[in-house]
Amino acid sequence: MAPEQRTAIVTGAARGIGAEVARRLAADGFAVAALDLDETALAATVNELTDAGHRAIAVAVDVSDEDAVNGAVEMVASELGPPLVLVNNAGILRDNLLFKMQASDWDLVMNVHLRGTFLMSRAAQQHMVAAKWGRIINMSSTSALGNRGQANYAAAKAGLQGLTKTLALELGPFGITCNALAPGFIETDMTHATAERMGISFDEFRAANEELIPVRRLGQPSDVAHAVSFFASEGASYVSGQVLYVAGGPKN
Ligand code: NAP
Repeated sequence: MAPEQRTAIVTGAARGIGAEVARRLAADGFAVAALDLDETALAATVNELTDAGHRAIAVAVDVSDEDAVNGAVEMVASELGPPLVLVNNAGILRDNLLFKMQASDWDLVMNVHLRGTFLMSRAAQQHMVAAKWGRIINMSSTSALGNRGQANYAAAKAGLQGLTKTLALELGPFGITCNALAPGFIETDMTHATAERMGISFDEFRAANEELIPVRRLGQPSDVAHAVSFFASEGASYVSGQVLYVAGGPKN
């Protein structure tokens, strides 16, 4: 192991944006711990990285489970080295209009996005503080600005922006930056599931949305991974507490 190689954790790395972020950070030179609910689901991401000669491990964890999170972060530290980059990407949708939304769907979305990000950040920061260097990157969304049918998700994603700015204030003195990305429409299983729930084909969904996006295309996971790469880089050390919209325009 090259002593200077840093370790990055990416949550929700089995697929979609998280898998692409894991690929990008590995290509950038980080050892990568890919975390998700299901270790089998992580195999594709991690095998691809190790087959390409990168250092990577899969760790099964529910990011909303305090003991599991603490154990997972310690496992990463002992197997790959102290995690100095943390990408809080794991997420779920439980969309419904307010009058039909179950309290359990509110709680689940809050727990995965907000509690999960809090627990992961709290567990990882001790390693970053010890190293006097760290990067925390949280996955918000354009839905933070409000989105019909997403009272739970919009509130969680807006909450992540407040958490991001607060961690930037608290952790800045230790050489740690904390920033958020707010993607717009990114083509992943999550947005395919949204089309299905709306009872329309993905092509219809794509066409309707592309018209509203200033650059006239859907986003791809690589668009988000590129922005993560910037926030994780050495050169981004003077950028903290920011929310970067990756949405093909000012907002969508
Ligand atoms: P995705 O394809 O559904 O992937 C999300 C991953 O997170 C899945 O592998 C999922 O595992 C995992 N996950 C869910 N709950 C978890 C938990 N409690 N602990 C650990 N892992 C968990 O979603 P995506 O589209 O790549 O989105 C990634 C992030 O970007 C999310 O935070 C999402 O809210 C955000 N985002 C996405 C878009 C978009 O247009 N796609 C836009 C804005 C923001 P399972 O498959 O087992 O559930």
